[in-house]
Amino acid sequence: MRKLVLPSLSSDDIYTQVVKNCRDAIKKEKLEAIKSVVFERYSHYEDNSQELKHISQSPISQDDEKDYLKSNYSRNKDGYLEGEVVSAILKAQSPQLRNTCPYCGIDKPRTIDHYLPQSLFPEYAIYPSNLIPCCGYCNSKKGKRWIDEGNRMFINFYFDELPYETIFLEVEFNYLLDDEVPKISFNLTQESIDKDQFKLIESHYSRLELKNEYAAESDEEISNIRQLIVDSPHTSLLTHIANLERNLKVFEKKYGVNYWKSALYRGIINSDFLNKIK
Ligand SMILES: [Zn+2]
Repeated sequence: MRKLVLPSLSSDDIYTQVVKNCRDAIKKEKLEAIKSVVFERYSHYEDNSQELKHISQSPISQDDEKDYLKSNYSRNKDGYLEGEVVSAILKAQSPQLRNTCPYCGIDKPRTIDHYLPQSLFPEYAIYPSNLIPCCGYCNSKKGKRWIDEGNRMFINFYFDELPYETIFLEVEFNYLLDDEVPKISFNLTQESIDKDQFKLIESHYSRLELKNEYAAESDEEISNIRQLIVDSPHTSLLTHIANLERNLKVFEKKYGVNYWKSALYRGIINSDFLNKIK
């Protein structure tokens, strides 16, 4: 879990370019007519980027205007520019973040989430700061949701200054009787984290059901590690631990201490999982 880098793109230029590329004269005229409203809304987003929940309702009320603005994002539609914008967004990230969904840290970010949903804020359909590369699972799970009773539901990886270097994701191993294959559960721990920040983290994890996703992903990882140890009876436990620690360091460095594999490997090293392998 790491912050994303905002690409250095001019949102006004992007809009102007999209309008210029329009072949549909009526659409072009409409988009031109609401240009200043859209630009004001871009400034409004920027002004509230540290408190996104304060972004006011969209002033775009006419259905045709809404549709035209949304269609700027849709593939194969007149004026489409998504490809260029998206590739600039991806290019701005480090290689590992470019290849991993920031919301879950599991899959590749093959889709783009509109952090403020297009249906409610059509003016932000092609606004770069509102476009977050993420995986299909997270995108559909998040859907049109973003705020609930005044609180944001999901972490915004461009703007949220969270304690990314503080460990808040932990793993627990539970054994059934003498079973050597544990049931893994992921937990969030509060401790030194600010109450409101933790609330946002908790909401993000629970609404995307990440704890279940991580537990499911871990089964295979655990079984691979177990197999590796079983298959190398002449390697000492200390050597295995040293190897796991090396992997852990790489995960923490590349993806952060709260990456699910960082949590899993810390859990493996610090639990009696390895001792139970026969
Ligand atoms: Zn995801």
